[in-house]
Amino acid sequence: MRDFLPFPDFSDAAAPRDVSRLRAEVRAFLDEERASGAIVPGLQTWTSFDRGFSERAAARGYVAMTWPKRYGGHERSAFERYVVCEEFLAAGAPVGSHWMADRQSGPQIMRNGSEALREEVLPQIAAGKLTFGIGMSEPDSGSDLSSVRTKAEKVEGGWRIEGRKVWTTNAHHADYLIVLCRSAPKTEDRYAGLSQFVVPLDAPGVTVRPLVNLTGEHELNEVVFDGNVVPDANLLGKGGDGWKLVTEELAFERSGPDRFLSTFGLLKVLVAAQAGNPDSHAAIEIGRLVARLSSIRQLSLLIGDLLEQGRSATAIATIAKDLGTGLEQEVPEVARRLMAERPARGATDSAGALAFAILSAPCFSLRGGTREILKGIIARELGLR
Ligand SMILES: Cc1cc2nc3c(=O)[nH]c(=O)nc-3n(C[C@H](O)[C@H](O)[C@H](O)COP(=O)(O)OP(=O)(O)OC[C@H]3O[C@@H](n4cnc5c(N)ncnc54)[C@H](O)[C@@H]3O)c2cc1C
Repeated sequence: MRDFLPFPDFSDAAAPRDVSRLRAEVRAFLDEERASGAIVPGLQTWTSFDRGFSERAAARGYVAMTWPKRYGGHERSAFERYVVCEEFLAAGAPVGSHWMADRQSGPQIMRNGSEALREEVLPQIAAGKLTFGIGMSEPDSGSDLSSVRTKAEKVEGGWRIEGRKVWTTNAHHADYLIVLCRSAPKTEDRYAGLSQFVVPLDAPGVTVRPLVNLTGEHELNEVVFDGNVVPDANLLGKGGDGWKLVTEELAFERSGPDRFLSTFGLLKVLVAAQAGNPDSHAAIEIGRLVARLSSIRQLSLLIGDLLEQGRSATAIATIAKDLGTGLEQEVPEVARRLMAERPARGATDSAGALAFAILSAPCFSLRGGTREILKGIIARELGLR
């Protein structure tokens, strides 16, 4: 078996870092948002879109927290950012407007974008004013992204994009999509000749069409590019290295608290239902969930440390996503057994939260890479295939 490094050093796990003041400030902000009706507990997730919420969060310094000040950031630690993210998710705040830009698109542009592009978009993301989407999947390319057929052709001063993306979360709200394209003909090395571009969605030649999900909401989209041209400055990296960029990005996408807190609102409902009249069977079931939650959180924190040190975390981030989404899916299963209420889609009480979680859960182990694909990556990283 291959050396399974880099593996976090558990002996140094969660060195004490006092963030109690920050946590209290964030909770006070979230209380205000709850009181104003911007947060509907149990019925929103990290894809729920509310530009106003994101702008207010940004004004408090909760977006672009780790970025350099010259790009509108706040130069705080990755751990402080983690605390803010988990508080937002635990509260069920509608963070969808800034989430992907803050989590991966902005950092990707910071690492691999031209200076012109950085100056154009990063301060606006930091102000909560821009929404980004991820343009990786296509109708015939989901798990095997190297087979994408969206084409980028070099033209005078830029690149002409033609093709179709699908399952694009919040593209109907997004200002930009980072689009994975084939920019050179396929060779024996199927991972070569791919590039990522930052594509404005208000350009002529771009069409966004809705795809309604199981909860009845319009969150996903099909995006068609019909010959729109993006400037050279919008190419990420040096061109042809799109596969490397995508792989790096996915480690950030797969390991954060958004991969184990999607049904935390329902878990809180379950706990609240036991208040005053605890049932020992329910306590055991809930206890098991909470124990899993805290160990996955520990793993996720350790990966955050690795990524902050600039170390690769592909294997362990993939494991974290698989464990985390498994837990997210288990919560509605346990809730179904323990709650007296029948799920009621559209209701704003606990029965509504149960229905929302049940209908949302199947997608948790699809988005960001399916369970089978994750298992394959883990096996490869372990040297087993
Ligand atoms: C809610 C949601 C949000 C999403 N948001 C986005 C987004 O914003 N941007 C974006 O680009 N994409 C997004 N996606 C797409 C997501 O990344 C893909 O659905 C996912 O990668 C699977 O691809 P696919 O749907 O084409 O399925 P396929 O790749 O066709 O897979 C179908 C089935 O076959 C299995 N399978 C495929 N290949 C193998 C293999 N080699 N070995 C074993 N089993 C295999 C898969 O596990 C799966 O069960 C989203 C998806 C969902 C559900």
